[in-house]
Amino acid sequence: MNGLKWHQLGTSELQQMLNSSFEDGLNEKEAEIRLQRDGLNELSEGKRVSPIVLFLNQFKDFMVLVLIGATLISGLLGEYLDAITIVAILIINAVLGFVQEYRAESSLRALKELSAPSAKVLREGKLTSIPAKELVVGDIVLVESGDRIPADLRLVQANSCYAEESALTGESVPVGKHADVIREEDLPLGDQRNIAFMGTMLTRGTARGVVIRTGMNTEMGKIAGLIEQTEAMETPLQHRLEQLGKILIMVAIGLTVLVVVAGILHGQPAYGMFLAGVSLAVAAIPEGLPAIVTIALALGVQRMIKRKAIVRKLPSVETLGCATVICSDKTGTLTQNKMTVTKVWLGGREISISGEGYEPAGSAFENGEEVDTRHDSSFRRLLQIAALCNNAVLSKAEQPESKRKRGKEKQQEEWEMKGDPTEGALVVLSAKLGVSAGSLEGLYKREKEFPFDSERKRMSVVVSHQGGRIVYTKGASDVLMDLCTYVLWDGKVVPFTSTLKKKCSEAAESMAEASLRVLGLAYRDLKPNEACESDSEAENQLIFVGLTGMIDPPRKEVRDAIATCRRAGIKTVMITGDHQRTAEAIAAQLGIMPRGGIAVNGRELEAMSDEQLDRLADNIYVYARVSPEHKLRIVKALQRNGHVVAMTGDGVNDAPAIKAADIGIAMGITGTDVSKEASSLVLADDNFASIVAAIEEGRGIYENIRKFIRYLLASNVGEILVMFLAMMAGLPLPLVPIQILWVNLVTDGLPAMALGVDQSEKDLMQQKPRPAKENIFARRLGWKIISRGILIGICTLAAFWITLQAAPDSQEQLVKAQTVAFATLVLAQLIHVFDCRSSRSIFHRNPLQNKYLVLAVLSSLVLMIGVMYIEALQPIFKTVPIGFREWCLVFVAAGIPTFVMGIGSVMSTNKPNKKSNKLTPVGKPSVR
Ligand code: ATP
Repeated sequence: MNGLKWHQLGTSELQQMLNSSFEDGLNEKEAEIRLQRDGLNELSEGKRVSPIVLFLNQFKDFMVLVLIGATLISGLLGEYLDAITIVAILIINAVLGFVQEYRAESSLRALKELSAPSAKVLREGKLTSIPAKELVVGDIVLVESGDRIPADLRLVQANSCYAEESALTGESVPVGKHADVIREEDLPLGDQRNIAFMGTMLTRGTARGVVIRTGMNTEMGKIAGLIEQTEAMETPLQHRLEQLGKILIMVAIGLTVLVVVAGILHGQPAYGMFLAGVSLAVAAIPEGLPAIVTIALALGVQRMIKRKAIVRKLPSVETLGCATVICSDKTGTLTQNKMTVTKVWLGGREISISGEGYEPAGSAFENGEEVDTRHDSSFRRLLQIAALCNNAVLSKAEQPESKRKRGKEKQQEEWEMKGDPTEGALVVLSAKLGVSAGSLEGLYKREKEFPFDSERKRMSVVVSHQGGRIVYTKGASDVLMDLCTYVLWDGKVVPFTSTLKKKCSEAAESMAEASLRVLGLAYRDLKPNEACESDSEAENQLIFVGLTGMIDPPRKEVRDAIATCRRAGIKTVMITGDHQRTAEAIAAQLGIMPRGGIAVNGRELEAMSDEQLDRLADNIYVYARVSPEHKLRIVKALQRNGHVVAMTGDGVNDAPAIKAADIGIAMGITGTDVSKEASSLVLADDNFASIVAAIEEGRGIYENIRKFIRYLLASNVGEILVMFLAMMAGLPLPLVPIQILWVNLVTDGLPAMALGVDQSEKDLMQQKPRPAKENIFARRLGWKIISRGILIGICTLAAFWITLQAAPDSQEQLVKAQTVAFATLVLAQLIHVFDCRSSRSIFHRNPLQNKYLVLAVLSSLVLMIGVMYIEALQPIFKTVPIGFREWCLVFVAAGIPTFVMGIGSVMSTNKPNKKSNKLTPVGKPSVR
């Protein structure tokens, strides 16, 4: 490097050194070679848990270890068959657990991949977006406000750039960045202002840089080991269930000890009782619960991905089901973000524009007559501002053969727009009326840009033209009018008097009331030596030229999604930087604003105290002309009012509100890296309807978790109870240890998992949101578990006792009675599993709807029958074939718990319900 450091090199030296072209970037082949040579642009991660360790972890459980110990003893005592079978069952159990956990882990990893960052890079003269990890040294990268810097970049162009480098330098105030050469040699990182470092954040401006270091060679790579980037992946529910699991272990062990002691006191052999006790403990402890919860969460998350919602933080899945308010951006989320200018206002003249989409074909009409823009100097000025104060690029897309054949009506699809849709609409307007970017090239040279951001609500460029310099500005009409002292009226520049300003505001209002997005356009000639380094130096004393009004139709699916939210007790609030009238008009079209609802704008919001805002917040449905920092106030006010808030955002300044919201939502397409990193949910299609889909899935996942908790715990209560009651009554063991383990395996495994992917109940989105602090056992779940467990236990014991009565002292009859108890217990649980699908009873849902569950139940049944009827297995499982009478007994005893309670539930649902969770009347907005 001629002994020079990167920050000391000029453009040509950089190009030479890196063997790259700043105009065209690298070619793909060269990039591939460099990628092979230097490896991926990634910071190396910590070690993952290997599958073997994950498998061995399954045996870590204390009771499983005790059982293995007990089995070894029984093996030593000569009970080989028992020992081998128990070990085999434990291994199958471990494999099941392993598969569950492994799947859960892989889905979580896949999720991380999905939200991996991308980079805008120039390759072979074309701007493309590639995964950031594929960047190589010499790549030309474009970054803009809100982007995380994807590699160490030597900047070659910078417009009003600031970077936040606290991760690297500890300095939390953003520092200015430029593209000039710095002469000093030894500079601390914080002073290398022409280098943007990997992992830091561009908070303002736009820049272009060449990659000088990637991956572990970057400055961030050097300290990578010090940075901990793990996200909290355990959800509150998982945490609570873990706690519950610990309590249940103690309860199960306590009861088991009781069973063992009672058995021994009633004359059972001590060793047999010990083995039965340990088996019972293993069966009764819901060790599969955490894994199944993770699976249910992970599979739910996969379903959400299919519905275009990518979860970044698992806990938000639970919170989704509790959301009471969704605060949504307007542009692009509620609307299509496909803008077309349809109206122009030019110093009192109203002009309509024809044409659709991005195709630059259309005309201007004033009072029904076509306007000849070539001879209309004011109009040409407006079109020039629109074309030059603009970063969007209109180009002809390469069409596949099949599309080309489809005929002329598809022609508009041939045009492709890159960049901000608002700017795209202005490029198309200019091109339609004969002022294309190409026609201005060479005549105007851009010298400076003061980029758009949601705070400033405007953008300016300084261009040189025929020896002079001109400022072109466009932005929100009201903001721009405040910066203008002159106006172009009838082709002349005249003072912008309050009368003319009023006319202009009225024109903007009337466009906004017609749902149009309104932008003002202005310009100013700079004096020969006038300083123009900052936006305030450029954007003053401007000459107002006119207004453009563009349509941005609402997304079709959003109206229904908002209605669904209303039925689900969720309020939708629009928060937008756009004009209040435009916002209100669109809110009305979408059905956001109920009677009595209020719209406020940024100024009114600023004038309100927190107390006033709190009082009004529940009634405000539209916030217009707000800046991103207002969003944080809105979130806080709603939270103080007891709401669980979902908030969308896309820009850098939205990040604090996204972080503060209970569910922070970022836009996958238009969102900045900063907003995505702050979010817990990313919308792959930027669509409001996807938020509603995610909420529906979130509610479904929670209900599914409740379903299998209900199933697993009721089963366990039944298992413990049958043994406990038998021992207390001085009866022989109703189930031998292997049978207990087998029941645990066939019922807890597949059926419980199948419940985790069960379809939601139809009225899921007609219920009120679940309170955030709701106990998992709320809504009578605890009662359902205990009552059903008791019934299953009693019925199983009754079947055992009745069978035993035929010959109480016969060993043969005991084996038969144990087989009957075994079959009853398994069958009762397999019937109960269908019951768990409904918050009411088995009669309220089609039992065949969940195919996985039907398959799981059938396979469990086959396994049960196999154990009873395959001769080779009978001595192992201590079973005998049973006759017709016994089967009748089994069916009656196994069916009673579900059907008795089912009929009770049907009868009670027919009575008027006093305390329902359902919203009534459905569909009415809840204005408090
Ligand atoms: P939302 O917050 O719902 O996405 P929005 O897109 O209108 O709405 P902003 O992007 O903050 O919000 O824009 C605020 C205002 O700034 C717009 O109403 C428009 O008048 C103006 N504006 C938008 N884009 C540009 C741009 N590229 N250049 C200049 N002004 C713009």
